[in-house]
Amino acid sequence: MAEAPTFGAIEGGGTKFVCGIGSGPDDLETATFPTTTPRETLSRCLAFFQENPRQIEALGIACFGPVDVDPDSASFGSITTTPKEKWSDTSVASVFRDALELPVAFDTDVNGAAIGEGRWGAAQGLNAFAYFTIGTGIGAGLVIAGKPVHGLTHPEIGHIRVPRHPRDSFPGICPFHGDCLEGLASGPAIAVRWDCDPVTLPPDHEAWSFEAHYLAAAVMNVVLTVSPKRVILGGGVMQQTHLFPLIRERLRDQLGGYIARPEFEDGLADFVVPPGLGARAGILGALALAGSAGS
Ligand code: ADP
Ligand code: ZN
Repeated sequence: MAEAPTFGAIEGGGTKFVCGIGSGPDDLETATFPTTTPRETLSRCLAFFQENPRQIEALGIACFGPVDVDPDSASFGSITTTPKEKWSDTSVASVFRDALELPVAFDTDVNGAAIGEGRWGAAQGLNAFAYFTIGTGIGAGLVIAGKPVHGLTHPEIGHIRVPRHPRDSFPGICPFHGDCLEGLASGPAIAVRWDCDPVTLPPDHEAWSFEAHYLAAAVMNVVLTVSPKRVILGGGVMQQTHLFPLIRERLRDQLGGYIARPEFEDGLADFVVPPGLGARAGILGALALAGSAGS
C-alpha cells in the first residue's frame, strides 16, 4: 500500500496559531504559538516547517477572518477587515507559498474544521453538513455537494440576526452589528451579559436557556436555508455539554414538525452533535485542506 502523503497544516486563531505536520490524526505532530503581531507569529510558524526534518508536499491554512478566499483576487489568502489589532489586511498564504515554495490551500477556520470533520470526524460519509464554532467569536463552515461553500466571500453565519429571547435586554457586543448572533451568544457576550466567566455559570443558570434559544435559532436558519444532513457544534462554549439536549429540544419545537426526515427522529441526537475530532478539528481540518492545494 502506498504511504499517505505528508502535509503541513496551520490553524490560525485570534489567540493562538497551531502548526502541524503529518498525514492524518495518527501521526500529526503539532506546535502552538500565541497570536502576537503578524510578523512574529507568522515567522514562528514558518520556522516550524523549515526546521522540521519531515518533508511536506503542500500546506493547508485554515484561518480566522474575515479572509479573502477568492483565488482570482490579488489579496487571496489574506485576512481582511478583522477588528483584531494589527491583523487587518495581513497576507498569510503568500508568506508560506513564497518561503516554502509549495502549493498552499487557504480557507476560513470553520470551513477547514468542517472539512476535517467530514474526512475523519462526525460528518464522515456526508456530502452536506455544517460545522459551527461557538467561542470567542461564532462562525460556521458549510459543506454542500461535498465542497466548502464560497460565494461573494464566505458565509458569515456568526453575524446573522436571531429573534431575541423574550427576557433578554442585553444590547449585544458585536462592534459591527450589536445584537447579531455573535453579539448575543459568543463566549465574550455571555461574559459581559452576566458579568462573569461563562465557565463559572452553573448548568441551571438562565444564561444557558438564553444560549440554547439563540443557538437553536441559528441552527434552524441554516437547516432551512442550506439543508445540512448534520450540524456539528464545537468551540469553547459547547464544552457546556448540557447545552446539546437544550438546543435539540428548542430546535425540534421551532421546526414544528415541518421537515419529516428519519435524521430528525430520536430527539435530533444524531442531527445536532459535538465534533468527532474534539479540540483537534481545526488543525486536522487544515491538514485535510492541504490535500486540495494546487487543485
Ligand atoms: P477561540 O474561539 O478563541 O478559538 P474557544 O473556542 O476555546 O477559543 O472559545 C473561547 C471562548 O469560549 C471564551 O469566551 C470562553 O469564555 C468560552 N469558554 C471556553 N471554555 C468554556 C466552558 N467550559 N464553558 C463555557 N464557556 C467556555
Ligand atoms: Zn456581528
